[in-house]
Formats: sequence, C-alpha cells, structure tokens
Amino acid sequence: MDYLPIFTKLENRPCLVIGGGEVALRKVHLLLKAGANVTVCSLAFHAKLQEKADAGQIKIIEGDFNESLLDNKWLVIAATNKKEVNQKIAESANNKQLLVNVVDDPTISSFIMPSIVDRSPIIVAISSGGKAPVLARLIRERLESLLPMHIGRLATISGEFRHRVKSVLSNVSLRRRYWEKLFGNGKLGSLLQKGQTEQAIALMEKSLTEDIAQGDVALVGAGPGDPSLLTLKALQLMQQADVVLYDRLVSSEILDLIRRDADLISVGKQAGNHEVEQSRTNQMLVEYAQKGKKVVRLKGGDSFIFGRGGEELEELVESGISFQVVPGITAASGCSAYAGIPLTHRDFAQSVTFVTGHRKQDGQQLDWQALATKSQTLVVYMGLIQAEEIQTQLLKFGRGADTPVALINKGTTADQHIVIGTLSELSQLGGGLNGPTLMIIGEVVSLADKLAWFSPESGHKLSRDPFLVNLA
Ligand code: SAH
Repeated sequence: MDYLPIFTKLENRPCLVIGGGEVALRKVHLLLKAGANVTVCSLAFHAKLQEKADAGQIKIIEGDFNESLLDNKWLVIAATNKKEVNQKIAESANNKQLLVNVVDDPTISSFIMPSIVDRSPIIVAISSGGKAPVLARLIRERLESLLPMHIGRLATISGEFRHRVKSVLSNVSLRRRYWEKLFGNGKLGSLLQKGQTEQAIALMEKSLTEDIAQGDVALVGAGPGDPSLLTLKALQLMQQADVVLYDRLVSSEILDLIRRDADLISVGKQAGNHEVEQSRTNQMLVEYAQKGKKVVRLKGGDSFIFGRGGEELEELVESGISFQVVPGITAASGCSAYAGIPLTHRDFAQSVTFVTGHRKQDGQQLDWQALATKSQTLVVYMGLIQAEEIQTQLLKFGRGADTPVALINKGTTADQHIVIGTLSELSQLGGGLNGPTLMIIGEVVSLADKLAWFSPESGHKLSRDPFLVNLA
C-alpha cells in the first residue's frame, strides 16, 4: 500500500492554500466543505476567491509565499502554477512535518487528494496513487451510480439512533446483528428514499423488540455448475452469509462468489460415501442458527430435487429455526438446455419423469412398467452405477432397444461432456466418465443432433465449451 487512506477532521483547523487560480479554488472549496479555517496566499486571486474573502469565508494574503505562513497550520496545499515555488513550499512544509499536497506532483507531496463520492456522512475515497487517474474516475462514476442518494440519510439517522440501540441491546454482537438485519432487508432504505423518516424511525424502534439473537437458514439451490445460472437471490444470500455449508456438487467458481469472511464448511457427499452424515449436517444447521448466524445451506441444482432439502427443513421446523428456500436450476433443466435436448416435445414426449438411480437401501422398487412407457422422457439422476439394471428393466418392459440415450457429464460447466447412444448400449456408454452424470432416455435425445451439440466429426462423443453457446 503506497498510501494510507485516512479521513481527517479539519473543522475550525487552520489550513493554507498557496495559489489563487482555478485549481486553488477547487481545493479551497473542498476544505470549506470540511469546515476548515482557510487562508489563501497568492499574488492574484480568482474572482470567486475574492468573493469568499469578502464574505468572510476565507482569509486572503496577497504576496509571495514565505515560511512564516506555515506557522500553526495543520495542512498545506501548494497550487501555484510555478514548479519551483511549489517545490519550495513542499520542502518547507516537509521540514516542519506538516501534511502537504502539491497539486499534480505526488512525488513531493506527503498526502494526495482522492476522488470522492460524497454521501455524507458516508464518504468513499478512491485513489490510484496517481497511477491510473482515468480508471479511478471510472470507478468513482460506477460507485456514484451504485450508492443511492438516501444512503447518507440512512447513516445519519442510524447515528442518531445508536444510543437508543445501545440502551436496549446489551452486547456488541447483538447490536451488530440488529444493524445487519435492519440494513439487510432494504425496508429502511426504501422508506428513506420516499422521504418517510418517521416511518423509518418507527421501523428501527420496532426491530429492537424482534428476536435478533436467532439466526436463520437459507436453503439455496446453486444450479448445476455454471455460476451464471445462479439466481440473484442466491447470490445476495451468499454475500450476506456468516456460514455456508456446501456439498460436493457446488463448483469452486460458485464458492468464489461467497462473502470473503464467511466460514465455509464442506458437507459434501457422494452416493454411498457420506463425508458428513446427513444427521450431522442437520444438527450443524440448527446449531449455527441458534448461535445467531446467518446460515446458507448451498446445494447443487435444486434442493427439493433429490437434494434431501425436505429432510433438512423438517429438522429446522422441529427446532423452531426460521428459514427460506431459494430454488435452483436442477440438473435436468440445466444439462438438457446446454445439450440441446428439450425434455418435452409435441412430437416425441408428452411428459417427463425425474427418477433417481440411488435409493435408500430398503427403498421401494421403481415402477418399471410405468417408466418404460413410450412418448415420455426419463431423466435419471445418479443413474450411472445402475445403468445395467435400468437398461435391462426398460427393455424387459417394452421400451425400444433403439431408444436414444444421452449421458451428460459435468453438465453446464466448461468440462461438459456428452455421450449419445441407444438404450441397448446404455450399460456400456458411461465407461470412463467421472463426476456428476445425468441420464436422459427418450426420443427427444435425437434432437441434440439438430439443436446444439452434435457434430459429425466427433461421432457421438460430444464435447464442447458450453460458454461458447451462451454467446451465440
Ligand atoms: N439437487 C440436485 C441433484 C442432486 S443428485 C439437482 O437438482 O440437480 C446428484 C445427481 O445430479 C448427480 O449424480 C447427477 O446425476 C446429477 N447432476 C447434478 N449436477 C450435474 C451436472 N452438472 N451434470 C450432470 N449431472 C448432474
């Protein structure tokens, strides 16, 4: 870090500006905004500086710079158009260990003046240390448009309410949660935006009596892999979380979008290989929420589709923890879209069924008779290990041997890989595939040829960057 950003209090403090032109005027203007006691020394003065002097807002001294002007000053700005003069001022000020800024010459300045986004009392200062002023300006413009005008008002009334919060909430972490909750839901901001200050204060008062110590859990579907398939709500909650419990299917690009300070806990599981037992996961969700944390339970795809989301919620309900569920794009939707396989089609499939190849040990048998019915699409999650059984049963119950089948491996990610074949080949198709794989069985698979991926050169082993398709 080349510079340490600090915010200095200049109210009623004597500051000196040397130079009387346009540049000096701008600096004087800023110093006055901060309430400084400003003296300007110059041979000639811009009309507006003269006006300010006449109005008693600043003091002006006509003449050359001399060292005695530095006496009792807090801060000095050299804004003359003469390099040697500016240099001399910097030298004298540095000798006296006074903070000095030489306009346009950071090398001899001991402080620089940043670009400012002013939503007082919220102030954002941006500097590139003189290295990329245009970039700093663009960042400033971006922040200007990002920070609503009422945010200053929000900070002011929060400041006024602080002592009240302190008198009601005894400890620091309770108070932190109170403010996080208040600022987090956006209601306060929108009241202020509409100018409804009284209602805003009433909301702040009412929130004091709510149960702030209690945390909550958001069950969030992270989609199948491509981070751009996250919902906005998922992203918002990931940015506010204290703790995130994620499972193995959630990609690292998605984990990168979580708030930096959040604790990340892997509770990943693979069929048959439960890294952290489900009951332990349920218990952790409850424990963290009871400690007052904002917990995000991040799951691949959608939590309610083969995600055991229901089981986790039951536990939360039993423990009286508040929760919300954010849907995600399930693997069937994501993979089929990125593979060019419409799950239903008026000519080929009037219904679509999602089944899982993996069931509880004592689980019920699938209704193979129903699953083998023509004119439907069958999507099998976690089906790879059962491929042989699926093939045998569907053929036995009358599904055609030439029914097209697609295996979509790591769907929607940059490593997406698709294998296409027929039902009679199903048990052989998945050899060598690692990672999550979705099975789609039905006539609609034949459309992949036309609608996206199939290229004659690569036979029926298709591999293509899904992000390229996004751009198309
Ligand atoms: N809740 C998840 C499914 C969890 S079950 C959802 O809604 O998508 C895990 C199975 O989902 C995997 O075995 C695989 O069959 C499928 N799956 C999940 N993500 C996938 C992906 N990116 N590509 C292919 N299959 C995927």
